[in-house]
Amino acid sequence: MSRLDLANDEPLVTCENLVKIYKVQDLEAMALQGLDLTVQRGELMAIVGNSGSGKTTLLNVLGGLDRPSAGSAMVAGYNLLKIPERTLVRYKREVVGFVWQQTSRNLIPYLTALQNVEVPMIIYGASPRKRRAWAQELLEQVGLADRMHHLPLQMSGGQQQRVAIAVALANNPPLLLADEPTGSVDTAAAHLIFEIFRRLVQSYATTVMIVTHDRTVTSRVDRVVSIRDGKTSTESLRRTDVNLDDPLDFGSTHEEFVVLDNAGRLQLPREMMERLDIHRKVQLEVTDGKIEIRPVDEGGKTPQRRPQ
Ligand code: ADP
Ligand code: MG
Repeated sequence: MSRLDLANDEPLVTCENLVKIYKVQDLEAMALQGLDLTVQRGELMAIVGNSGSGKTTLLNVLGGLDRPSAGSAMVAGYNLLKIPERTLVRYKREVVGFVWQQTSRNLIPYLTALQNVEVPMIIYGASPRKRRAWAQELLEQVGLADRMHHLPLQMSGGQQQRVAIAVALANNPPLLLADEPTGSVDTAAAHLIFEIFRRLVQSYATTVMIVTHDRTVTSRVDRVVSIRDGKTSTESLRRTDVNLDDPLDFGSTHEEFVVLDNAGRLQLPREMMERLDIHRKVQLEVTDGKIEIRPVDEGGKTPQRRPQ
């Protein structure tokens, strides 16, 4: 199977000041508003954010399904703002695999699990024997060795999503994008799907980006990036010095960071702004190697701190 040959220390995904504007009749919706994001090879990361924050738009842009409007988006050496239509077809086939939330969108209903996984390889031109062997291996990886000859409707929603993951990996893409892959399955099935993503990262060095609005995902991935209003706002990283086996302990297993863009701009979390009554202006002061951000009242004076 093909795999792009790039220096390993180069990030797989780099978005800088990425903008996506949708035009609907006379209205413009700015779904991505200058988003910055870097994803390293072999990362298992999640993107969280409220509904309408731009998560699906970001995945669609990275998946080559939607053209970015401005800024830059580089994936595996491809510049998605400039990529010619022809190359885009190859990009979608070789560089990215996509898992959709609606299970029905991922699979062909009258084909078995095995046949579904083989379809992308037929298009690609792999030999029947190679196809079969690789499809079987992938279905084993997603824990469906005993369901290979089942039709989608003979499987649970969680199992169908696991077949969908195998389909997305059929051409062994370096990047797997999953939009709310656990959105319509129960908690146990969701846990299993996250375990499978981790296994795939380990087995095939695939880079996995998962979009979700489930904030408890933090304990199951290496890094979580929050999107707010089409821009990356905060990011939490898994700490490597604590026991990760306790899923209830995710508060202490992660450190939260606010993301700075290339110009040094940062976005304050909304909860903090509300708590300190911060509006349009703040005062900054450097003290003891720290920068303090202080609220400013209408008249420009620093108000007294409100009692908690
Ligand atoms: P999320 O996946 O985080 O819920 P989306 O990326 O779907 O958010 O949407 C971000 C914003 O862009 C929303 O305001 C949405 O209405 C708008 N939007 C998304 N897709 C389209 C589209 N095809 N046409 C017009 N507006 C869109
Ligand atoms: Mg969405």
